[in-house]
Amino acid sequence: MALIVQKFGGTSVGSLERIENAAKKVAKAKEAGHDVVVVSSAMAGTTDRLINMAKQIQPVPNPRELDMLLATGEQQAIALFAMTLQKTGYKAVSLCGWQVPIITDDVHTKARIKEIHTKKIKELLAKGYIPIVAGFQGVTKDGEITTLGRGGSDTSAVALAAALKADVCEIYTDVDGIYTADPRIVPNARKIKKIAYEEMLELASLGAKVMQIRSVEFGSKYGVRIHVRSSFKDEEGSWIVPEEEIMEKVAVRGVTSSDKEVQFTVVKVPDQPGIAAKIFKALGDAHIAVDMIVQTVSVDGYTDMSFTVSETDAPHAKEIVEKIAKDIGAEKVLMDPNVAKISIVGLGMRSAYGVAGKMFEILAKHNINIKAISTSEIRISCLIDRKYTELAVRALHEAFIEDESINFVGNGT
Ligand code: ADP
Ligand code: ASP
Ligand code: MG
Repeated sequence: MALIVQKFGGTSVGSLERIENAAKKVAKAKEAGHDVVVVSSAMAGTTDRLINMAKQIQPVPNPRELDMLLATGEQQAIALFAMTLQKTGYKAVSLCGWQVPIITDDVHTKARIKEIHTKKIKELLAKGYIPIVAGFQGVTKDGEITTLGRGGSDTSAVALAAALKADVCEIYTDVDGIYTADPRIVPNARKIKKIAYEEMLELASLGAKVMQIRSVEFGSKYGVRIHVRSSFKDEEGSWIVPEEEIMEKVAVRGVTSSDKEVQFTVVKVPDQPGIAAKIFKALGDAHIAVDMIVQTVSVDGYTDMSFTVSETDAPHAKEIVEKIAKDIGAEKVLMDPNVAKISIVGLGMRSAYGVAGKMFEILAKHNINIKAISTSEIRISCLIDRKYTELAVRALHEAFIEDESINFVGNGT
């Protein structure tokens, strides 16, 4: 008998029929003799709808109230899920984050899980119940309701699997696994059987929304076996596993893009020590993550400084950066939302050479200008004009994944 955490995403619980279909997956595991803990997202479209309503009242809604509002989406879904299981004779009970409890820090709308109390869930399991836990939400130690950022139910599920030492965390979604690129953009994308945590971490942080990044961090830290699979089919999906289990370390495992970023440029910044620290420290203090930093060559004692932040953080970042720009005597702050980040990721990149050159060559061949570049040991990202996103992703996928004649590892291409 195993302990399985099954997480169902928004589409998988998008209607009463779909909840019924999801409940069948739970029942099947239960009938096979396993203990099951369910984590559910809000029904598809609910979170977006709630955010839109809040934004009609305040363009930047009060974060505490926004969390209070958004948590209702998951609360609705878990109650419907529990009723559906009860109707077919199973003992099920729904639990909000605060009832588990899942304790988070107090950073509203992007809270981090600090601790999960497993006593209640274990007691329910011992009595034969199926606990249905609300994804995406938690509670601070002071009793305030928080949410974990968009896509946060993945993180609830993996963190819960880690806390319960579950044998597997199954992520049921609307694709049948993790692909070499978003199958909605690249029809030729291939399903990946096994992907390393490190690779999935990069893909998730660079736009592949199939898994929220923090869920992969938890998986990697606590060794949770994650199986991403379809809620509509029965076949095996993709496994996220430790690097040692990956036999073939290809230079490019996947291609991904993100058009959820905004580029800021602080124009004519005095080229002095401490200026960059001032800008980025203030953003860090406001819990805003920064990427793709570029500083131009100094001319007459001034430089331009560019960086990207996520679209959701952009209004807040704008306020902060404009204030600092004034303080440090910079000329102005420009904001460009028409950018996209495209990235290639693969463990084999560590020992390969020629990969960056090939990437830039492909973009150049399609007349796509590169505005900024950033790299890690196992990925290369380029910031480009947003209108070329799909073209770039397809071209890179074709060259690095579909064209099997290219092998970068050590062949000096
Ligand atoms: P859920 O609501 O189940 O959490 P999401 O919409 O958050 O589902 O994530 C699934 C979606 O992720 C897919 O529909 C797909 O379009 C997208 N996606 C992006 N990149 C990838 C990838 N590399 N492999 C699979 N799906 C991807
Ligand atoms: N309902 C939340 C969202 O739409 C969390 C999730 O689905 O994972 O972002
Ligand atoms: Mg998701």
